[in-house]
Amino acid sequence: MRIARFAVGDQVRYGVVDGDAAPANGAGASGLTVAEIAGHPFGPADEDVKLTGARYPVDDVRLLAPVLPSKVVAIGRNYVEHARELGNEAPSEPLIFLKPSTAVIGPGDAIVRPDRLSQRVDFEGELAIVFGRLCRDVPPARVPEVIFGYTCANDVTARDLQRSDGQWARAKGFDTFCPLGPWIETALDAADVQLTTAVNGEVKQDSRTSLLVHDIPTLVSYVTAVMTILPGDVLLTGTPAGVGPIVAGDSVSVAIEGIGTLTNRVIDSE
Ligand code: MG
Repeated sequence: MRIARFAVGDQVRYGVVDGDAAPANGAGASGLTVAEIAGHPFGPADEDVKLTGARYPVDDVRLLAPVLPSKVVAIGRNYVEHARELGNEAPSEPLIFLKPSTAVIGPGDAIVRPDRLSQRVDFEGELAIVFGRLCRDVPPARVPEVIFGYTCANDVTARDLQRSDGQWARAKGFDTFCPLGPWIETALDAADVQLTTAVNGEVKQDSRTSLLVHDIPTLVSYVTAVMTILPGDVLLTGTPAGVGPIVAGDSVSVAIEGIGTLTNRVIDSE
């Protein structure tokens, strides 16, 4: 099931996205419709989402970031080839950092390059885990119980500041540096799916989640040994090799097999 958050008029709603890429009657050019959910989807795990009966062509609504997390936890150097391309080794334990919730933007929103403060902003396409439950100290075998679904993420990074600062809060934390979307897929087996990132249509990253150094159960167990996870929190699982710069005017797309494509344009702050 694909769960989207969307704006229709001045109302923000959650919905279930239905349809395939092929256009269908009344579904608009994308062929997709969204059925409005009563309330929000983060209810008890054993309760089905309740629909209001309202349904819209996706082309007639504005998709928003599919979730507003209290925090975004992220993992560094979790693909060997990416760690190497930046001159690092993959760490023996997961390397965790935080991105502020205020960095989150949705599909179609602009990534704003802080061009006064950074001369080098990179894209990082990543698989994002969306949590459905409050949890702490989750053993690897019980991780599937706390995962609501998966979405695409771009861990946008001011690479020059990451190097010069020695810690990553500024480099990873600018407003707009965490695009999420286009929706949450709740039925995905994310253990081995293709992830590609393209800039202006040219593929820059092409890898599979089976190449994660630390797999999803390990990451969730590791992170929840440290901090309480709240419903809607997000965990970025790391980026594969191929990262590179984006500049104003670029369009960057993160596509994950079984989820969809997250596309954002890039503008300068001034
Ligand atoms: Mg990253």
